[in-house]
Amino acid sequence: MTEPVRLRPKRPCPICSKPSAQKYHPFCSSRCAQIDLNRWFGGNYAIPVEEDEPDEGENREE
Ligand SMILES: [Zn+2]
Repeated sequence: MTEPVRLRPKRPCPICSKPSAQKYHPFCSSRCAQIDLNRWFGGNYAIPVEEDEPDEGENREE
């Protein structure tokens, strides 16, 4: 019994939802790949975050 070849389902670019390019999988372009990288490295800068953030800036006790 032969196993069927598993084709990866084509997933859209997680950044802009365009069809991903094989070269930049899973992104559509180097630009989107870079954006994703920046997310990881930059954390929450350059990207608007809408999470519950504690008000550490004003009530800082040290
Ligand atoms: Zn993209």
